Amino acid sequence: MSDRYGDFVQSSIGKKVAKNLGLPLPVELDRFESGQRLVRGSVLIGRAKGDDQSLSQAVVNILSKLHAEVSSNADDSIKGLLDEAGVQAKTATNDDSKFKVLIFDASNVANTDDLKQVYEFFHKVARRVQLSGRVIVLGRPPEDLDDIEAALSQRALEGFVRSVGKEFKRGITAQLIYVAKGAEQNLDSTLRFFTSARSAYVSGQVIRIQAGSHVEVDWTQPLKGKSMLVTGASRGIGEAIAKVLAREGAYVIGLDVEAQKDDLEKLMDELKGTPLLVDITSDDAGATIAEAAKSIGGLDAVIHNAGITRDKTLANMDEQKWDLVININLASIAKINRYLFDNKVLNDDARIVCVSSISGIAGNMGQTNYATSKAGVIGLVTATAKQLETTDQGMTINAVAPGFIETQMTEAIPFAIREAGRRMNSLSQGGLPIDVAETIAWLASPASGGLNGNIVRVCGQSLLGA
Ligand code: NAD
Repeated sequence: MSDRYGDFVQSSIGKKVAKNLGLPLPVELDRFESGQRLVRGSVLIGRAKGDDQSLSQAVVNILSKLHAEVSSNADDSIKGLLDEAGVQAKTATNDDSKFKVLIFDASNVANTDDLKQVYEFFHKVARRVQLSGRVIVLGRPPEDLDDIEAALSQRALEGFVRSVGKEFKRGITAQLIYVAKGAEQNLDSTLRFFTSARSAYVSGQVIRIQAGSHVEVDWTQPLKGKSMLVTGASRGIGEAIAKVLAREGAYVIGLDVEAQKDDLEKLMDELKGTPLLVDITSDDAGATIAEAAKSIGGLDAVIHNAGITRDKTLANMDEQKWDLVININLASIAKINRYLFDNKVLNDDARIVCVSSISGIAGNMGQTNYATSKAGVIGLVTATAKQLETTDQGMTINAVAPGFIETQMTEAIPFAIREAGRRMNSLSQGGLPIDVAETIAWLASPASGGLNGNIVRVCGQSLLGA
């Protein structure tokens, strides 16, 4: 779908007009392309002073494997760790050289005085981040800390990161990654995702990494040998998910309704996957999926993407619109998951990723049915994640909550509301289906065993529900 305003402000005249009128100035976001380096530019890394080196150590090891171009400040104790890991890091100077990625390990921030180190690190370089740059702060989950000063300081990082996301603009994103003590080995897949162009439309997010199971992968094809089912796969976001999972090496079963047969078969033909025609609300949906999965040795991931809108204000909403949306978007997911768990269709270390929506977080005019269903999806993920923690099968469940994504679904929104939805975020533009798909591929990776119960918004830091 075309974004005429977005295209206009890419031109020099458009830029001038927008600037003079104080209008939003979206930049074209960097997006991942196969064969390109994951980190496209230099990384400035720093750490808060303190004894615990485990998180810094993990970051340095990952950057070393990525062969990233790394710099650090002259007086920063991260230098010793970089030397030990054999990373030939430069010393950052006060000139106007720019960075693509800023990473600060704030895990040692234990009181309000310590927070000053966060200010000092980022203040100096706030104007020196490249277009589509990345700002990443690492910390410890406040809920794991008994000391009140330590807990409040770690929680304070959230306000800092969310504000940076809103301030920096120019396609720059900011995230806070809380890593539980002892879970450092599970940071790899998350740091790769957030330092790269794969996370183009994800900003202002707080991610929690726990111990979980640790699985080594071939990073050139992290989903190789994995069988993954995508519902609603024939078009829009589902089509992009199927394509990205296949690109990353997965064998894809694409599910959709009979009416989408032609599109689905064409796509599965292209991806060398299997089309599965079934309505997810039908009584035998779980059994049909199980039957398809049997011949390929079970499922390693299920992506619950299929969903619909039937918008009306509550006073005007007939019963059928309520029932249809709740059944497709929520009840069917709960029912299918129950069947897959009860009948052992999911393999060890399987991943479930559900597609919620920022409507489910913020609520939305004319969407009582849709927002109820999507909030319910978050409830389902949170409750299931808790249960999965008690098993030893290494399974995880997470959700993405897209904001305004350019698809047939958003094309149906009236112009003025559509334009507002598209611009009311830190990146001043709508996201693309591939942005949701890349986020799902990260959560569905066998290497993401430390992520369980996360709700990740793919919304460019939308003001809705922020
Ligand atoms: P879409 O309408 O383009 O695609 C939805 C797909 O789901 C279609 O292929 C459809 O045939 C399939 N589907 C619908 N009912 C089904 C059923 N009963 N059984 C099997 N398949 C069924 O929508 P989209 O924009 O690609 O949205 C995909 C998901 O993302 C949905 O869950 C939607 O709620 C969510 N989402 C989208 C946006 C957005 O901006 N587009 C924002 C937030 C959330």
